[in-house]
Amino acid sequence: LRRGHRPYRDIPATPDLRKRYDVVIIGGGGHGLAAAYYLSHYHGISDIAVLEKGYLAGGNTARNTTTIRSNYLTLPSIEFYREGLSLFETMSQELGFNVMFSQRGQLTLAHSDAAMRSFRLRAEMGKHAGIRAEVVDARTVQTLCPHVNMDFGGQHEVLGGLWHADGGTARHDAVAWGYAKRAAEKGVEIHQRTEVTGFGITGSRMTKLHTNRGTIAAGQILQAAGGMNGRIGEMAGIRLPIRNFPLQAMVTQPLKPFMDILLSSSNLHTYLVQSSRGEIVIGGGTDPYQLISTRSSLPQKEALATGALQLMPFLHNVKILRQWAGITDITPDFSPIMGASPLQNYWLDAGWGTWGFKATAVAGKRMAETIATGRVPDLLMPFALERFERFELLNEMGATAAGH
Ligand code: FAD
Repeated sequence: LRRGHRPYRDIPATPDLRKRYDVVIIGGGGHGLAAAYYLSHYHGISDIAVLEKGYLAGGNTARNTTTIRSNYLTLPSIEFYREGLSLFETMSQELGFNVMFSQRGQLTLAHSDAAMRSFRLRAEMGKHAGIRAEVVDARTVQTLCPHVNMDFGGQHEVLGGLWHADGGTARHDAVAWGYAKRAAEKGVEIHQRTEVTGFGITGSRMTKLHTNRGTIAAGQILQAAGGMNGRIGEMAGIRLPIRNFPLQAMVTQPLKPFMDILLSSSNLHTYLVQSSRGEIVIGGGTDPYQLISTRSSLPQKEALATGALQLMPFLHNVKILRQWAGITDITPDFSPIMGASPLQNYWLDAGWGTWGFKATAVAGKRMAETIATGRVPDLLMPFALERFERFELLNEMGATAAGH
């Protein structure tokens, strides 16, 4: 390195663990790091330890396919993800760190009349909430993505689509490193290889966190543990309605740029996006069984390849470079759980399933506000854990599907 040159990923080494912190964040993924950033920069709280059992942002943040969008179905979700998307628009400037946000638009294909009807509903809900979402016909699909196989008269004939001009992608680890770097500058301690193994609870407060590096105390605790949220909740005596399913993705060898939108088909359970390196990122739905594992599988590779070739048959000779899996924390209504827990000083940022990368900034910002003020902001209220007791679910299953 040249003298004075600061490496891109410039995160301080793991310090010794102190006995107490004002705030402890369980999970050094995008969400935990973003919360640490907003607490330290906007609320004057920097006596914070982020505890990460592996390496920085090595969980689902590292494994996701980076779809960023706000075209959900229910009003609370659209409003929440709309704020999340807008924070990506200014993130590189905010962090002084290039997160490579590329707002290229997302197109979801309809292969049936039923899909067209559901897209109309989503487009109208979106317009009502002030986002850019519109139903387009088959001809417009061809204009937006000339390479897509329209399959005229075939089993997967493209009838039209849902066009979401606001949609985009960003570089996942740059997002996490940007938040980590700026939080660390304010004194936030990031402890890698530090696993929370148990809790000490007195009355309705969590008083201790046991880790593989010793026991610590905290004023407030935020749980943001990605795929492990259900398990950590159990350790804290909180039953969360979360089930774990693996979610896989893969990339091809790099190709010359030819696709400048995000393309998705929920019928085919496949979506495609060309990365800034030229690789075609191929993603789809979760594995059909519950499992806590990050091993990828041949059946899922075949399923994703089948969908990709249906959409773009000319990819048939392209080589697959990598395939991987993450462990998702899925809720019954495909919406996250944010806000209070049954314990007074223990806050939840969980249930991010297959859809939480796009919420990294807004969840971090709003959870920081919650912890700093002790009050859950209106934007997060519909996502409270109690919604499952009140049967006030926010059903986003159809609007999450394979597009994430
Ligand atoms: P994570 O990034 O998983 O961070 C949680 C951290 O907690 C982990 O690093 C983990 O090691 C740590 N941890 C766990 N247990 C402990 C413990 N006991 N002690 C200390 N630390 C612990 N979302 C989108 O919006 N768009 C997409 O296109 C998209 N595609 C996806 C594709 C795939 C293949 C996968 C797997 C997910 C995808 N997602 C997508 C979902 C998204 O990745 C997640 O919802 C999001 O990254 C969650 O961020 P997080 O910080 O909450 O969790």
